[in-house]
Amino acid sequence: MRMGAEVQEVSLNAATAAGQENGSGDSPPAPTSSRLASLLGSKDRDYLLSLDGTQVKISDLEGKVVALYFSANWYPPCRNFNQFLIGAYEQLKRTNGSNFEIVFISCDEDSNAFDGYRAMMPWLSIPFSDLETKKSLTRKFEIEGIPCLVILQPGSGKDIEGMALRNGVELLYRFGMNAFPFTKQRLEQLEREEKEKHDSQTLVNLLTNHNRDYVLSHHGARQVSVASLVGKTIGLYFSAQWCLPCEKFTPKLVPIYHKIKSNHHHENDNFEIVFVSNDRDEPSFASYYAQMPWLALPFGDSNIKTLAKHFDVQGIPCLVILGPDGKTITTNGRSLINLYQENAFPFTDSKVEFLEKQMDEEAKNLPRTKLHGGHRHELTLVSQETGGGPFICCNCEEQGLGWAYQCLDCGYELHPKCVRVVEDHAVGSVG
Ligand SMILES: [Zn+2]
Ligand SMILES: [Zn+2]
Repeated sequence: MRMGAEVQEVSLNAATAAGQENGSGDSPPAPTSSRLASLLGSKDRDYLLSLDGTQVKISDLEGKVVALYFSANWYPPCRNFNQFLIGAYEQLKRTNGSNFEIVFISCDEDSNAFDGYRAMMPWLSIPFSDLETKKSLTRKFEIEGIPCLVILQPGSGKDIEGMALRNGVELLYRFGMNAFPFTKQRLEQLEREEKEKHDSQTLVNLLTNHNRDYVLSHHGARQVSVASLVGKTIGLYFSAQWCLPCEKFTPKLVPIYHKIKSNHHHENDNFEIVFVSNDRDEPSFASYYAQMPWLALPFGDSNIKTLAKHFDVQGIPCLVILGPDGKTITTNGRSLINLYQENAFPFTDSKVEFLEKQMDEEAKNLPRTKLHGGHRHELTLVSQETGGGPFICCNCEEQGLGWAYQCLDCGYELHPKCVRVVEDHAVGSVG
């Protein structure tokens, strides 16, 4: 196994400390007029590598917003973010073209891993061999964990470190490329917009329009007034019959829905789900909705597009949870359902915190390593702190978060509940 247990700590302090000890990180900047050139170049290199290996002059980056991207191929949260970043980057290149660039600083262990990772990246890289520059950047920007995206503003001159934003990963996950150009003004504007959206959000605004004040139901008059749902916890279920992950998730959600309803019926039936259909035609909608015991917006309703945009739904299935006040509790109801089933209700931060603590307690009794029937390497128990960030479970193909069994060799990752333990260690014989 390539990684020792200590490597699971994704702290780059070790690298930083090493740089300080041998004093090599303090080498004076190359004699150049440009701050950027001295940050990203070395005494014998004034260029970066592009995807196809050609050299791009660092001076070409002058005047652009430059994001320094610290990442490693072996670490699943980096690979997840990398996928996301590629999409965002390509989107931004289409709209803002030449004003933005990303520079990859590899935290991989060897040049093969670096080459493989870089082959996916449409942006620029610092050559793997230049460990000095990597060390000095890691120290200058106080990089403590990866993935990390440090955003440098053009024209920040001498104070380039002071003006740098270190929370690029968080900003991108939150606002996408809308955050561009990452200036204080832009970010304040986005915060303001988010707050206004939040303040004006009510269940009635979200689910009704001028022509319709009800949602569909399988029961009684086949309609339920939206007003009668006010005060409940509501799940908006974005889904479609043609979507394979939806086809898997819906049958899991149905019994959980019934359990939540029956566990909490004394609280006056305070949970409901509304299906927001992305189906392509009415017959598919009708046959898909027939599998669901909950409510639905009518097929093709004008609110469907508005809701998807409002909650920035990028993919389905997606379960958005609204609190009794009509405000968003989470857009990640799907992964909470996967992690905690009916116990996730009412999906609030305090409930999730409680469940996480409970899971931490349970994890104390789990074996540190396991062999799983579907994978040839040994799996190691990891938590969010030790490398178990958001992941896709290779068994149930659903999202996971926090505790996981992870293959340190190839990143294969499972929910603890999804491990099918192999009793004997006859690894070669299992599929
Ligand atoms: Zn799973
Ligand atoms: Zn493996």
